[in-house]
Amino acid sequence: MDNDNQEIHESILDDTTGVPDLILLDEVSDNAILFNLQQRYYDNQIYTYIGNVVISVNPYQKLPIYTSETILNYRGKSLYELQPHIYAIADNAYRALRDRDEDQCVIISGESGSGKTEASKVVMQYIAAVSGKSKDVELVKEQLLQTNPLLEAFGNAKTHRNNNSSRFGKYMDIEFDFKGDPVGGVITNYLLEKSRVVSQADGERNFHIFYQLLVGASEQILDDLYLTDDIRDYNYINPYSVATEIDENDFTETLQAMEIVGFQSIEVKYVLQLLAAILHIGNLQLSEKEDESGNEFSEINLNRDLQIVSKLTNCKISQFQYAITQKLVETKYEQVTTSLTIAQARYARDALAKAIYSRLFSWIVDKVNESLTVKETATRKVMGVLDIYGFEIFQNNSFEQFIINYCNEKLQQIFIEMTLKLEQEEYVNEGMPWTHIDYFNNKIICDLIEKNNGILSMLDEECIRPGKVSDKTFLDKLNNRCSKHPHYQSKSMKEFSRDSTLDRESFRLVHYAGNVTYNVNGFIDKNNDNLHRNISQAMYTSGNPLLQFLFIEGNPKLASRKRPPTSGSQFKKSVAQLMVNLLAKTPNYIRCIKPNDKQIPEDFDISIVRHQIQYLGLLENVRVRRAGYAFRQTYAKILYRYKMLSMATWPRWEGDTKAGVQEMIESLPIEPNEYAYGKTKLFIRNPRTLFNMEEWRRM
Ligand code: ATP
Ligand code: MG
Repeated sequence: MDNDNQEIHESILDDTTGVPDLILLDEVSDNAILFNLQQRYYDNQIYTYIGNVVISVNPYQKLPIYTSETILNYRGKSLYELQPHIYAIADNAYRALRDRDEDQCVIISGESGSGKTEASKVVMQYIAAVSGKSKDVELVKEQLLQTNPLLEAFGNAKTHRNNNSSRFGKYMDIEFDFKGDPVGGVITNYLLEKSRVVSQADGERNFHIFYQLLVGASEQILDDLYLTDDIRDYNYINPYSVATEIDENDFTETLQAMEIVGFQSIEVKYVLQLLAAILHIGNLQLSEKEDESGNEFSEINLNRDLQIVSKLTNCKISQFQYAITQKLVETKYEQVTTSLTIAQARYARDALAKAIYSRLFSWIVDKVNESLTVKETATRKVMGVLDIYGFEIFQNNSFEQFIINYCNEKLQQIFIEMTLKLEQEEYVNEGMPWTHIDYFNNKIICDLIEKNNGILSMLDEECIRPGKVSDKTFLDKLNNRCSKHPHYQSKSMKEFSRDSTLDRESFRLVHYAGNVTYNVNGFIDKNNDNLHRNISQAMYTSGNPLLQFLFIEGNPKLASRKRPPTSGSQFKKSVAQLMVNLLAKTPNYIRCIKPNDKQIPEDFDISIVRHQIQYLGLLENVRVRRAGYAFRQTYAKILYRYKMLSMATWPRWEGDTKAGVQEMIESLPIEPNEYAYGKTKLFIRNPRTLFNMEEWRRM
């Protein structure tokens, strides 16, 4: 062992920084895990392993651990050589993909604000740094990296939990050629929280892009878009929120990103026009009128705002009156337009703004994908990186939180399936003695939400049921059908009738990560998510080709749409696809932990972290890894990598690979209880052993 390595070896197992892998803990308990993470956190060691899972504790400060030297250091090293780092996992995954042709995925989970999005960027930064440097490859890498600031501008916002909270889910497949160079990618986005476009909770902000535009755009751009630089001029922007210098700089960055990713300047112009149009739509004033027979109807006031909206969207004013104050109902035989009341018209106005924004967002993702499409069809390898919106509990939780938290339940499911369930099953399949380790399986909650008779399908039922349906009838249905479920709670149930945190408009789910009370107001509408047909028709008349494209279903030549799928069922379907996609790849996990609720450095809140350790199932994870074997690999692969460790197997072993591995391993100074032979794989108990084998290889 040379001196450098000696030092590294000692420092990584140095007791003052806690153990780098929780499997090495002397005592296995929630407390031991907690104190180990705490000790490391205060020593700026934010990463810790459980086998090949990385736990990451958000430092809320810039640490000097992401430099190019650090990257160089981790290149080609085995997992146990250096301090735990996302780079090590990324390197491992990248090499498996390049050298062994295994598609990989990096699944990043944790609650809102725990550091998922930052972790995903660290993975991408690593891949970009270690892969090829040719001109074409550099361009692809630059484009891939620039998708981050671009999508964050449009899809992230400040919430109570996180100043840069992802309000959409993102799964990105990075595609590599046979040399291991990135050649393109595909991004899939999941349900954007579009209600934020028209209103934000106290202390929260609209999507970053609106602030960026208002404080970052040149006077010329603002003039062209009839905008001022005062966010308080716009009803859709929370007047108590603030734009900062960061927004100002970020606007330039967003524009640059659009250019690099391949947006043409005319497309950028259309995007800005639509953003401005949305802000002005929010300022449209409506008046209540009455006809001779005393029927209420509404009108948009003919003022400057309306003229501006008409200019920016390139739609006639009459089209706006039609879109927002009327409702077209089509039956098989006739078309009937009815006038909307002022409340209904306000609702239609907001629905329009939300539709423009969310469709614009999806269009941007499509555009990005177009640029990143791989031209040639040569065999490709893929690394998927999943960064979704984290589990969240607010004072008021609505349909959006329900969807976000459901998605997090599914990710926890994958983790449980792969690391707790399949891992234990593998020992049994490999014929190894095994005592089952118990864990909480959240499948029961996933089922409650997504099964055929689950909450999502009850919501769908209510959305298509003729007659008087409302959020209240939906809640009644839930109360009728779910009250026996151990994870469902509501005021209508005897045991919760006195619970002051519940009311007659809410239900509570006992999620794996905590109890969340959902207010049902808006569930039906948000799930239905259908836009009046006349809104689409009006937008389709736009002279702005982008707007017209976004409302293509408004083309009168197209037959009227069938009822589109509900947002809940669409989401469920795309999440199911995602699961299939992830399960087809070798998973790598980054589990993010938020050290405190204040978003500040140097503050490790014991109770907050303990809660996360518990619901993430870290203890069970450590137990399974520890009772089992830290590492396992097929005999062929073991022999291939370590055959030089024994004269018997070097340079080549003819014959049964298991016998070869036996020859090799038994010639080494390793205690026999450190390894075991399965049917197809060799199992190694302690990461230290593997570390030693790696060292011997290099000698
Ligand atoms: P959400 O689910 O709300 O999207 P998230 O898990 O993606 O949350 P991030 O946006 O990644 O959380 O992190 C929140 C903030 O924490 C970041 O904006 C950054 O300030 C800080 N942070 C996270 N990870 C790191 C890190 N490795 N180093 C420094 N700061 C970090
Ligand atoms: Mg995020």
